[in-house]
Amino acid sequence: MKIEDCRTDFPITRDLIYLDSAATSLTPKPVVQAMVEYDLRYRANVGRGMHRLAVVATHRYRDARDAVRSFVGGDGGALAVTRNTTEAIGAVAAGLAWQRGDRVVTTLLEHHSNLLPWLRLRERGVAVDIVRPDSEGCLDLADLEAAIRDDTRLVAVTHASNVLGTVLPVREIAGICRDRGARLLVDGAQSAPHLPVDVAAIGCDYFCFSGHKMLGPTGTGALWMRRPDLEPLFVGGGSVESATAEGYILAPGEQRYEAGTPPIAGVIGLARAAAYLREIGMETVRRHEERLAARLIDGLAALDGVTVAGPDASGERIGVVSFTVEGMHPHEAAQVLDEAAAVLVRSGHHCCQPLMEHIGLPDGTVRASTYIYTTAEEVDTMIATVEEISRRAT
Ligand code: PMP
Repeated sequence: MKIEDCRTDFPITRDLIYLDSAATSLTPKPVVQAMVEYDLRYRANVGRGMHRLAVVATHRYRDARDAVRSFVGGDGGALAVTRNTTEAIGAVAAGLAWQRGDRVVTTLLEHHSNLLPWLRLRERGVAVDIVRPDSEGCLDLADLEAAIRDDTRLVAVTHASNVLGTVLPVREIAGICRDRGARLLVDGAQSAPHLPVDVAAIGCDYFCFSGHKMLGPTGTGALWMRRPDLEPLFVGGGSVESATAEGYILAPGEQRYEAGTPPIAGVIGLARAAAYLREIGMETVRRHEERLAARLIDGLAALDGVTVAGPDASGERIGVVSFTVEGMHPHEAAQVLDEAAAVLVRSGHHCCQPLMEHIGLPDGTVRASTYIYTTAEEVDTMIATVEEISRRAT
């Protein structure tokens, strides 16, 4: 499928300029149809029943989960279905056998979901070392390397920043972690939807992502693990091989992480979303967004009273651009963009409050984020509207 042809699958784009895909993406008709088909034609619980619908539903569900795992190149490992990235990261924080004195290294670029779970571990005697980027938000790999010590158990970094759109060299980071004997968790919330991802090639131990940011339904996400070596958050029906009054034996592989009925329709929808992205091609998605990001940055940076946040546009990036308008609070700018031209953007600290403080923008930014359905014309309309409102503000 050609990327230009996908817009009709997203009815919301008819009336609005949706530039908030980093928060959640729109979802195309085939994804909705796949979920409706499950509900109307073969709805049954999975994994346990012998009747015909249970058999079909179980096959479709397992195929869907396998397809999601393949989408990120994870066939050599295990994939546990979660509600979102936050739950996936939380499952690692809760499931590793921490000992007092263990250390975690993370960065100040992180979304709260990849920072707070580690800060909470301080209560259990785990030390957290936070590597700071420069004042523009650029991370020096040497600083990260220097922070990793012999007692560092885990390094947790984002693959792509949800504020600045910058992409971190996770493959190199994985190499450093391997040399130092630390495990690596990659927060892929902003990379899985926008870049070709191959967890095996990256060499990480855990990769977390959200279905709702990659055309899938809300309430779906995943935790990929190189080895299913975490203590599950929950145990119960579906997650054990056998149980007696004395105890239980956990099921092997990813099944041990699926206590209770999973979001069956959701995972079927998510697999359809992955197939949809594959039909377009993730390299095409990446290039499309890179072009739009460059257009946004050039257009916004040329406006008086508008400042684009973050390092210059030369490095690898996703289609996320943050900026400020002089004399206008980001929330006000977002509201006016909606009222004036039905341009929907996000404003505020984007769940990255420590980063915002660090780069000197405590009120946050206005953030425009693109996806496969975003057009160059929409970007131009947005830039023209920002020009208009910034003239009014100054
Ligand atoms: N990490 C990053 C980089 C994100 O952008 C987000 C979502 N804004 C999250 C984690 C959390 O994702 P979710 O809300 O789906 O758990």
